[in-house]
Amino acid sequence: MKKYICLFLAVVCVIFSAGCGEGDPSAADKSSPAEENTRELFAMDTYMTLTAYGEKSAEALDAAEKEIKRLDSLLSVGDENSEIARTNEDGGGTVSEDTAALLGYSRRIYEETDGAFDITIYPLMKLWGFTEDKQSVPDEKKISSVLADTGFDRLNYNNGKLTLGSGQGIDFGGIAKGYTSGRVMKIFSEYGISSGIVSLGGNVQCCGKKQDGSLWRCGITDPDHPEDSSSLAGIVSVSDKAVITSGGYERFFTEKGKTYHHIMDPSTGHPSESDLVSVSIVSADATLADGLSTACFVMGREKAVQYWRSHSDEFDMILIDTDRKLYITAGLDGSFESDLSFQLIDRRE
Ligand code: ADP
Ligand code: MG
Repeated sequence: MKKYICLFLAVVCVIFSAGCGEGDPSAADKSSPAEENTRELFAMDTYMTLTAYGEKSAEALDAAEKEIKRLDSLLSVGDENSEIARTNEDGGGTVSEDTAALLGYSRRIYEETDGAFDITIYPLMKLWGFTEDKQSVPDEKKISSVLADTGFDRLNYNNGKLTLGSGQGIDFGGIAKGYTSGRVMKIFSEYGISSGIVSLGGNVQCCGKKQDGSLWRCGITDPDHPEDSSSLAGIVSVSDKAVITSGGYERFFTEKGKTYHHIMDPSTGHPSESDLVSVSIVSADATLADGLSTACFVMGREKAVQYWRSHSDEFDMILIDTDRKLYITAGLDGSFESDLSFQLIDRRE
């Protein structure tokens, strides 16, 4: 199910990014259009589309694909030979530079969000059956006992050495794709790509502007019609930014008429039941955006807005709540369009 939605979302983003927009003709050299190259691949359990413009765009995409595959084999909890799977199995170990970077981000977001983002939810993801696509509602007693072992503060991480607490396991699923798209942007810059866009399962990051000098246009999925590209919640126009969404509609199961999605509330051990159904984070830092999309989803509107007010220099958000009300933060004023009405959230209360 998720795979198909992601393929669809990847397509939506590319359609929008390649779509219309007010161009700045002076920004494009009409006599020699930059070479365009696109690559599609399946990695990290999702469909990805990479597009780059420039003389070295083919080489840049080769290098980007290689990097994505390298990170996938390092970070995938499902691959028993990955660094993360081995770390979970062995209760810790010496970690690579990439894992160290992700642990740094994870610690910061855990601490700043009162634990709403917590990579130690892995045993809970397993208990709920999300890791093997065999989901069912677990016994409450089992949830309580697994929950007692979770908590980033029970990890010991120092000088590249990680030690897990008993019963602990880590899962970078809420942050790895953002980190990966950030790495792809770094490769693009090394190859002199000044214009490009990537969609890793609907999580988008763009480099520069479009070839005609206009901004990239990224569609925000309508949570009630995630597979219908004609029914978007809105479009955000950006340059040099990541637009990363967490939505309860992305991966879920239904039991006895109730729907359970894949975003855990680490304080309850159950899928989050906040008042948000979708959180999109817009930021120049894709790793932060990915971690925060998950964290803000769990925190709910009020806490997410409070957090944003003290970090509005780092990111903006588009929120959709359970009543289908749409909110955007002040930094997106003028860059967001929607057929629906939406409320602008100010930097001050
Ligand atoms: P997606 O990966 O579907 O784009 P997210 O970025 O929100 O969406 O990531 C969801 C994934 O993050 C889950 O599949 C799980 O691996 C992990 N996860 C779930 N809940 C949390 C949480 N509270 N903190 C950190 N990671 C989480
Ligand atoms: Mg995330």
